[in-house]
Amino acid sequence: MIPAELQAGVLAGTGAVQRRAMAKAITLLESTRADHRAQGDALLTALLPHTGQSFRLGISGVPGVGKSTFIEALGLYLIGLGHRVAVLTIDPSSTVSGGSILGDKTRMEHLSVHEKAYIRPSPSSGTLGGVAEKTREAMLVCEAAGYDIVMVETVGVGQSETAVANMTDMFCLLQLPNAGDDLQAIKKGVMELADLVVINKADIDPDAATRARAQITSSLRLLGLHGHPEHAHHDDQIWHPQVIQISALHNQGVDSFWAEVSRFRTVQTANGRLAARRQHQAGAWMWERIDAGLKQRFREHPQIRARLDDTTRRVLAGELPASTAARQLLELFD
Ligand code: GDP
Repeated sequence: MIPAELQAGVLAGTGAVQRRAMAKAITLLESTRADHRAQGDALLTALLPHTGQSFRLGISGVPGVGKSTFIEALGLYLIGLGHRVAVLTIDPSSTVSGGSILGDKTRMEHLSVHEKAYIRPSPSSGTLGGVAEKTREAMLVCEAAGYDIVMVETVGVGQSETAVANMTDMFCLLQLPNAGDDLQAIKKGVMELADLVVINKADIDPDAATRARAQITSSLRLLGLHGHPEHAHHDDQIWHPQVIQISALHNQGVDSFWAEVSRFRTVQTANGRLAARRQHQAGAWMWERIDAGLKQRFREHPQIRARLDDTTRRVLAGELPASTAARQLLELFD
């Protein structure tokens, strides 16, 4: 199939026809072959005017916190409200081992077979930057196909959470009710990314969940004070990260979760931060890919390849200043 047919299938197809076109489009975008890449770029450029209308929701948390249970409950709730829901994942284990923590399609039993949902597992290999790029492109395909809520899920490894926060409008962190867990998230710098912290499994120990909520709320306040002193005062023009309790398994709190998301969207749209965040993400994304592309070309440059090992050895042995070595190699690249 040529991209023009794929484009028509994604934009105007319905049901199984559209689904097949989306799967083929995303597979094309995931390919590393140069001719595929060129076709993929043409396709993305054509789809771009039809993207951007969705709300992009990032969801993270350690294995077992209840992400798939929650996404299934939320997805079905949103479909009930008339939305179409896409779920994408960034699986950091796939970038290391080619394995998968999040790849199991049976994780969302009812959502995965629903005609108003589209679930696509993480690309199965590559660097985190590469996997994130593919996921971002898949997100555009889903948007062009009319999915108005796109969730991007990842699992607790600091960098993949940053990647998800950098491609979504809102980043939600799922936590267990046991006290002390929040310290882990703070240590990894993940708590600072959160626009909303969701304490799941509140049914197991409601008192612990209430304590965790108080503790995380005060941690967030501290992070806010350090990071953004001007945000310290209560002000309804600015979003302050919130903490809520839910029980995904019992479908409790999904509606209040969505009420918070809707409030976030309203506040951040009114104050211009949602648009600014997307703009910033697009610019940062371009530079991230330029950096990665330049580095790869640099390493593949014949003269640099011939010199790189020896130069590195001399830097490590203390024979050549690192900065001089870098300048010499960069001159070869010119
Ligand atoms: P994931 O690894 O983050 O996707 O977690 P899962 O959604 O697979 O959930 C892990 C386990 O926790 C499963 O056995 C779920 O049934 C259970 N679970 C999820 N949410 C809740 C909840 O709100 N309450 C209780 N009691 N169990 C839950």
